[in-house]
Amino acid sequence: MSQPDRLKTDCSRCAALCCVMLAFDKGEDFGFDKNPCEPCRNLDTHKCKIHDTLAQDGFRGCVAYDCLGAGNRVIQEVFGGTSWQSEPRLMPVMMEAFSAMREVHKRIDLLRAAAILSLDPDEEQRRLEFLAQLEDHPWTASELNAFEFGLALEIDVYFHGMEKHLNELVSAAR
Ligand code: SF4
Repeated sequence: MSQPDRLKTDCSRCAALCCVMLAFDKGEDFGFDKNPCEPCRNLDTHKCKIHDTLAQDGFRGCVAYDCLGAGNRVIQEVFGGTSWQSEPRLMPVMMEAFSAMREVHKRIDLLRAAAILSLDPDEEQRRLEFLAQLEDHPWTASELNAFEFGLALEIDVYFHGMEKHLNELVSAAR
């Protein structure tokens, strides 16, 4: 059986992590202020009560947001389908894991995008190795905690070394 696309968001397999963790301010994109790690007042269990009318109700920011599959992966892979609603004590660790998984998935997105660059064989091999580590690895909460100061830094250094390719792209686009 083929693997699901890691970057595909599936809210039905998440526990509304973005509707809890993310903060927003009342303005053009959101209808009221919300603090980080505070369940949104429009949340009903794991569903948004105004899902079908978000834009009309002043929540265009929610329509635009995409966690790139980080929420569903955290809930299913790291917490075995458990929710902070049935296990409130897990809320802080779930929020930390979600934050780190968003960083994992942002880098998967970047590494996939780098496939269009004229990478030399070593760079291409490293790109594929990084992708395999990020996509295939079954993450635990403690490994996610360590990600930002370990593998994430290695990948960022890798991208820093590829600036020459990015400059090539910019020149070609002119
Ligand atoms: S308005 Fe709906 S989609 Fe936006 S944060 Fe609140 S519950 Fe989530």
